[in-house]
Amino acid sequence: HATKKTMADHLRKYESLFTLTPQRMRIIVEAFKETLEIGLAKHNQIVPMIPTYVFGWPTGQERGNYLALDLGGTNLRVCLVTLEGEGKFEITQSKYRLSEEQKQDDGQKLFDFCAECMKSFIDSNISGGIIEKDSILPLGFTFSYPCSQDRIDHGELIRWTKGFGAPNTEGHDVVAMFRKSLEKYQVPAEIVALTCDTTGTLIASHYVNPKTRIACIFGTGCNAAYMERVGDIPKIAGLGIDPDAEMAINCEWGAFDSFEHENLPRTKYDQTIDEQSNKPGEQAFEKLISGRYLGEILRLIICELIDEGVLFLGQNTYKLEIPYSFDTAFLSLMESDPTDELLMIIGIFTHFFAVETTLAERQFFRALAKLVGRRAARLSACGIAAIVSKMGYLEEGCAVGADGSLYKKYPGFADRVHEGLQDIFGEKGKNIVTCHAEDGSGIGAAIIAAMTKERK
Ligand code: ADP
Repeated sequence: HATKKTMADHLRKYESLFTLTPQRMRIIVEAFKETLEIGLAKHNQIVPMIPTYVFGWPTGQERGNYLALDLGGTNLRVCLVTLEGEGKFEITQSKYRLSEEQKQDDGQKLFDFCAECMKSFIDSNISGGIIEKDSILPLGFTFSYPCSQDRIDHGELIRWTKGFGAPNTEGHDVVAMFRKSLEKYQVPAEIVALTCDTTGTLIASHYVNPKTRIACIFGTGCNAAYMERVGDIPKIAGLGIDPDAEMAINCEWGAFDSFEHENLPRTKYDQTIDEQSNKPGEQAFEKLISGRYLGEILRLIICELIDEGVLFLGQNTYKLEIPYSFDTAFLSLMESDPTDELLMIIGIFTHFFAVETTLAERQFFRALAKLVGRRAARLSACGIAAIVSKMGYLEEGCAVGADGSLYKKYPGFADRVHEGLQDIFGEKGKNIVTCHAEDGSGIGAAIIAAMTKERK
């Protein structure tokens, strides 16, 4: 008769599944570096390394009023940005929630909704005296899904990510679609630049901190961007662009290790998430890291233990059995619970899932959250290290502009990324520092719009 396992015994199994050693991380970094090079060499690779047609860094002296529309995942944001030069800016913004239906409904309707939101934002800011009547403002469009671009104001959606699936959009020019909607609703805005949150964050971070070389997003999805020498982007060698010019690259690194799954340590929970997602096989890196999935990983572990009769015996657990019911924000709350009794965790489980927990179970959940959150941060460090190492930034050091709820709100996420960088690089890893880039996607779109106007 075997003695009953304690929660601490169960934890040990998950510890070994979710822990990444420095040695394993360095192997991932090498594979990642190679993947980045392949994406620069050839078109249509798994990590597409998209040329953004954003040439070089901002001077910090960009000025003027710009609109920005940010379609990023959970929310739709409309911003009015006033660039004041010297790395300063002001921003006025409104947020609009997107429903799950809108994400799956016809693409043109989605852009119609964007145009409607933009229209009401402009109208209310005209009546508030912030926007001049009858002016047509330049608009930077931040569309954070992989698009293939051949100029700054054009981009074909390669594929939806982050749970979007609106038909009649993949393969289409999203700028043309949005322009059509802006015309339909007679919105006084002129799209001058298409960008993504990551490229926007890169440019916005550099505007305020010229040490910035890389930007990362840790939100619903995850991604990175950096500045590359045009001569080192072999796949665009035929375009006649000065090889010494610099262009921002939108890595779309969330796709790393997709399909073949050779490089990342995936658990069976990760595999389940992948199989049950609307895009199996895709965004393999993102599915281990981003806000959309971390809560779900934890939920799947809990469900496994419910099935095994370890947790919540005799309680009704139907709420925990609903896919994606466990928000990643709960992991943040669990990790930051300051009480010995873990009262916050009691609250989460009673209020949201209608189950009672013991202290040992709550300690277990907190430890699980830590494992899942820490793995995400350390894998992110691997991606950053790949760019740092490829570009030779380690000696001199650099700043990495970062944004997204996971980065901003998950306790210790940034520290764990830094710790990961030191595990990979040793002491010198301290030369690479992430910093929060406030409103990167909105400000960045405005700066990119300004840079585009100045180039013309
Ligand atoms: P988006 O990437 O959609 O533009 P965010 O950066 O806000 O927007 O990211 C949203 C994601 O962050 C969601 O998946 C959500 O679960 C997660 N999230 C929201 N709040 C928190 C939090 N406090 N801690 C960790 N993750 C969070």
